[in-house]
Amino acid sequence: MTVPETAIAADGLDLHQALFRRLMRAARGGLNEVFVGQMLASWMAGRGVLPARMGLDEARFREMIDWHFPGLSGAGEIREGEAVDGRFEELDDVRGLLLQHRAQRSRSEIWVADIVAVGCMGSDHLWSDLGLFSRADLSALMALNFPTLAAANDRNMKWKRFIYKQLCEAEGMRACRAPSCEVCADYRDCFMPAEAER
Ligand code: SF4
Repeated sequence: MTVPETAIAADGLDLHQALFRRLMRAARGGLNEVFVGQMLASWMAGRGVLPARMGLDEARFREMIDWHFPGLSGAGEIREGEAVDGRFEELDDVRGLLLQHRAQRSRSEIWVADIVAVGCMGSDHLWSDLGLFSRADLSALMALNFPTLAAANDRNMKWKRFIYKQLCEAEGMRACRAPSCEVCADYRDCFMPAEAER
């Protein structure tokens, strides 16, 4: 399959890139493989915040790898990690929101929803915590897997902020102290300056 340039932009670490390229060689050719491959390569290289098996149970983790990368052999380098943080109470809410908006094109959307929800427990940018290569890749992942949710983020709000704002609004809570974004002191926390995109 052809790997988009955003996915192969070199960031300096050979192991990381070697893992990603190996995954792409083993990929079945689905649209999600670039994104799952980025996250899996980063996780295997010890990047990002994803816990053991990227937050999936063992059977579903293996199923995801077999589905996306049937040509992958000897996954002995797949690392252990910390278990999912049980204090992450909103995990099911985030997962549920994502699944409400899934494209219904592939079973892969369900694994991706689980992984993105787990990634939301990180404290850095969501794309980075997930092990994606850029924020543009996260936007593309969201558009592919959860298109109606992605379309609703028509002002380019940071994804984690946007997801949590959707949950608050669904609960009837006011997530924002300011009457509008234009007059809000937290503007920079919610919106990504164009120059910050990689
Ligand atoms: S910029 Fe302020 S008003 Fe707009 S979403 Fe963020 S916190 Fe809410």
